[in-house]
Amino acid sequence: MQTLIPESLLRRLDVPGPRYTSYPTADRFVEAFGANEYGQALRQRAEGANVGGTPPLSLYVHIPFCESVCYYCACNKVITKHHERGAEYLDVLDAEIELHVAALGRGQSVSQLHLGGGSPTFLTDDELERLMASLRRGFKLVAGAEISIEIDPRTASPERLRRIAGMGFNRLSFGIQDFDLAVQQAVHRVQPFESVRDLIIEARALQFESINTDLIYGLPKQTPESFARTIAQVADLRPDRIALYSYAHLPQRFKPQRRILSADLPPPDHRIRMLGDAIGGFIGRGYTYIGMDHFALPGDSLSVARRQGRLHRNFQGYSTQPDCDLIGLGVSSIGRMGATYSQNAKTIPEYYDAVRQGQFPVVRGLSLTRDDLVRRAVIMALMCQGRVEFESIELAHLVKMREYFAAEIESLAPLAEAGLVEVGENSIQVTANGWFFVRGVAMAFDRHLRNDQVRERFSRII
Ligand code: SF4
Repeated sequence: MQTLIPESLLRRLDVPGPRYTSYPTADRFVEAFGANEYGQALRQRAEGANVGGTPPLSLYVHIPFCESVCYYCACNKVITKHHERGAEYLDVLDAEIELHVAALGRGQSVSQLHLGGGSPTFLTDDELERLMASLRRGFKLVAGAEISIEIDPRTASPERLRRIAGMGFNRLSFGIQDFDLAVQQAVHRVQPFESVRDLIIEARALQFESINTDLIYGLPKQTPESFARTIAQVADLRPDRIALYSYAHLPQRFKPQRRILSADLPPPDHRIRMLGDAIGGFIGRGYTYIGMDHFALPGDSLSVARRQGRLHRNFQGYSTQPDCDLIGLGVSSIGRMGATYSQNAKTIPEYYDAVRQGQFPVVRGLSLTRDDLVRRAVIMALMCQGRVEFESIELAHLVKMREYFAAEIESLAPLAEAGLVEVGENSIQVTANGWFFVRGVAMAFDRHLRNDQVRERFSRII
């Protein structure tokens, strides 16, 4: 299979690093930021709306339940076959929505809504309809809003997709990971190619605007040959977007991963080949490389945004939507409000208790400092445009780039030598090869990454 990047380069850059869906990253959130601080951030948004309007909101709703566990899982989820738990969870979500309505006013505009998990399709169709009705009662989904849901193919059927389309969802994301049966058995997630293919055919017929598929390389029993077959099968299905994630084996942190035998994991040189083959394979089949771990068909809005330098980055990864305030609803959800980040309680009892007492269930978060804001601007410019113009940062943040970031700019020298980045008098430009490792460039500006032990907690960079 065609490989675009020399293996020596792939190997050299195989170091741990964050994905920068936020800066600072979520592991930097502190408990000193809680429900009161979150309420204050909401009040500030409400005051801003009163004096001149604010951009629409983004909403994320976390449905934590799954019927069975995938051994590679690092998500916040609850494994249960008791589907009646869904109804109770929706009761509490309703109450959490109403807490936001009380703070912001009813009918705030929303331009982006995403249901993730866990498995949102753990809920029945009637329950999903109930949830959408609650969200529409609290907020106003604007015309053209992106409304997306993660689909576990094992809990979906063509009939379900029809119901889901009828609820207003216009984007679907299918968790595929790998089509090889031995790999699926090794990770306890068996879903035949044919069932996923039939769902994607139905989704096309229903005219969903965008279909995404998630893949993972580095899983147990994967080989470059088996993964090449999965790459070809996925490319044949022509999803609009493909996300390719690297499996990080951290059994001390994620209990389900203890069921994975280290001996079954592909060796580092196989991981590198699988990554190179996937990049070469998808580009060879007409996909645009968006950045980090995303590919899209040339006509997809993400490819258009990439060409036009209008990419953005949020907790779901790359996005076409400009940065906006994000409300995270449900257990463990993360939000972004003004210059703050917040995260809800990670356990269901804690989440239920707070909401039932009429409190925002926020247990940690961060108020960004001036330093955080300028670094966020630089990191997001690198991650989204692959370029930082010093003047735009200097005007917006009142710093002298070459003085403020003298050490950081100096630390880019090895990357510049490797041809991954060009540091000019007035700008930093990530090169075409460097774009594959853009987070390695962004990491130079992350104040919190000085400690190697912290770095080890992140997934590997490729
Ligand atoms: S990978 Fe997804 S479906 Fe599997 S256990 Fe984790 S959250 Fe549930």
